[in-house]
Amino acid sequence: MIRLPKFTLKIPQSLRLLSRLPQMQEDYNNLIQNITSNFKVKTQNPHSVYANKMVNLSEIHVYGFDYDYTLVRYTPALIKEIYNNSKQALVEQLNYPTGLYDIPFNIKFSTRGLHYDIVEGILMKIDGTHRIQLGTAYIGHRPVKDDDIIRIYGSTHIPISFMNDTYGNAPRHKRLVHFIDNFSSAEINLLTDVAEFFLSRNIPYDPVNLYTDVHDAVHEVHVKHQLHDAIINNVEKFIEKPSKITLLLERLKNAGKKTFLVTNSPFYFIDAGLKYLTGYPDWKDLFDLIIIDAGKPAFYTATRPFRLLEPNCKFKKWDTVSGFHPGNVYCQGNVTDLMKYSGWNGQEVIYIGDHMYSDLVDPVLKFGWRSGAIIPDLEREINRMNTKEYQMTLTTVLQLEQLIAKYTPLVNTTAEIQTVDFWEIELANEFKNLKENFNKQFGSLFRTIHGTSYFSRRLARFADLYTARVDNLLNYSLSERFYGRRISLPHEAALATIDYERII
Ligand SMILES: [Mg+2]
Repeated sequence: MIRLPKFTLKIPQSLRLLSRLPQMQEDYNNLIQNITSNFKVKTQNPHSVYANKMVNLSEIHVYGFDYDYTLVRYTPALIKEIYNNSKQALVEQLNYPTGLYDIPFNIKFSTRGLHYDIVEGILMKIDGTHRIQLGTAYIGHRPVKDDDIIRIYGSTHIPISFMNDTYGNAPRHKRLVHFIDNFSSAEINLLTDVAEFFLSRNIPYDPVNLYTDVHDAVHEVHVKHQLHDAIINNVEKFIEKPSKITLLLERLKNAGKKTFLVTNSPFYFIDAGLKYLTGYPDWKDLFDLIIIDAGKPAFYTATRPFRLLEPNCKFKKWDTVSGFHPGNVYCQGNVTDLMKYSGWNGQEVIYIGDHMYSDLVDPVLKFGWRSGAIIPDLEREINRMNTKEYQMTLTTVLQLEQLIAKYTPLVNTTAEIQTVDFWEIELANEFKNLKENFNKQFGSLFRTIHGTSYFSRRLARFADLYTARVDNLLNYSLSERFYGRRISLPHEAALATIDYERII
């Protein structure tokens, strides 16, 4: 339950008629009364599909899917596996201290969606207008003071020249890296843990070198297929079950829709995963087209030709691919040839993936495909937002803001000014409570204190739909019309809207 102190002030009789204090006190007490009496919790369904833009599913004839973290969901054990293997690579291949093995794995320190300043070694939360959210900047596990942020950057604003581009590319001369990948929790946590290890032992280190080494160590774990082998050798440990993707894919096919898979992963890896998830040795029949080793995002920008896999799917054939045939598996390739050979174009195609940059940006910007983002974090955040505690805190924040805005231009006396100061402190406390509902250090993936996060801004631009898991689509008919919520612009009157529960 949130803490709401009773606000009382002793006002001398002689000042009562002249002072605004009695009215201020009454307004504040009414605020508390309104929040604490008969508070009604409004819930959102964590299994809903949410829309940023209007999408009419009856106009979608082709459904494309990514594999990792889209068709397949991984257990938290996978992040721990990447973290531990990467730490081992740091020690064994790059001569980092063996004392790193004593650091316990703690996935809860940071979240994805954050930015990392390679030069300063600062992990931080940035909003949609490139401003650092004060109170969410850390070196190692140590908070960076607000004054230090201003000293380093001149203000809370990060110049665009420091940021990754629209496609998420952050060449090494750029200062800030955006950790958006679902796998990236391992890398962020390892970076902050190793930095904290050095700081706590007064071991000097260069943040750029640390970033480079950790990044390369994590990359090694992926590139050498160490991770793929670990997953397929222990699918029960790393892949979440049950899954309804078989039902979803069968439903799409039975309705005459086309389905395709474009993944960067190799065949032997997705073969093991999809056999496990679907229970079908012939899972390939669930798709009209399968493309592996696609190399997204270059798949959308380069012209690498398709190669056909031999029937045993172990070797690539050397003859030219000039069209697609059912039952075949293709590798590499490019989107231009995909559209040419399949005849699938524009707004009849929806591509669903978890990576905003690799999966969604190019299809949306270049080809007008519709897009769906899979955001596993959404389920946990919605469940948190559905609690009475969270909603009472949020309501308090919004009402305190109104109260402060109302009286700030009016107050004159010391007592009145102190009262507004008291409310400001109360507001800051409630903001902190709100943030800590999601992550103690960094808050929600989607919001900063006063606005939307950088992640959220990207999501609004590049995802027409978003949901926590792909099989949530089963909750809707194939003629569903999703409408983005119409939010009143600041100059428009706010109209009441009704949220229909449309899940079938
Ligand atoms: Mg993926």
